[in-house]
Amino acid sequence: MGNEWRVDSIDRKRFNCPCKNGYYEKVTTTMSDDYLRTDEEIKYSMECESCKILYTYRSFYGWILKSDNQKLEQQEQLINNELKSPKEYILGKYKDQMVNFLNNKPRTQWYKKWRDVCHYTNTIQTFRKYTNSIEDFLINYGNFYGYRCILEWMGIEDPIVEEEYKIKIDELRDVKRDILNSIEKKAFR
Ligand SMILES: [Zn+2]
Repeated sequence: MGNEWRVDSIDRKRFNCPCKNGYYEKVTTTMSDDYLRTDEEIKYSMECESCKILYTYRSFYGWILKSDNQKLEQQEQLINNELKSPKEYILGKYKDQMVNFLNNKPRTQWYKKWRDVCHYTNTIQTFRKYTNSIEDFLINYGNFYGYRCILEWMGIEDPIVEEEYKIKIDELRDVKRDILNSIEKKAFR
């Protein structure tokens, strides 16, 4: 028989909803398995009909307006679209140079940069495995910021990357930061 997880307890706590005419529930489910490991799952459920129409739950923020959430998602979409052309541009122009350059650098050095600049969170062992093929890694896991970091390491400053792409992307990210700040101020917890 395989390992089985069982629900040990379900705890429901009620809190006032934003309009105060109803409530939302925080549902905590605790589980354990055959090896006595435990796990916990937390869900938020809006039980007020009018707040249900207006609000959605977002981790780390709380209940936020669906309209704000939509604004945020649209902005994230804009950023993702905007990141496509620089990726193509940099790979098209510098891929072989980057592969050659990285081929001669210790993985630990590259890993450290990748971690600091791209907020890469995997372990060095995983990084080594993924970078078995440098070319595949650059194509599949590389992003604009990672590429910029490698170009800088190579001593290349490409005016199109720095002046055109980076400025545009930074502007979009500033707008996203403003949206997040306003969401954080208004969030209901
Ligand atoms: Zn309500």
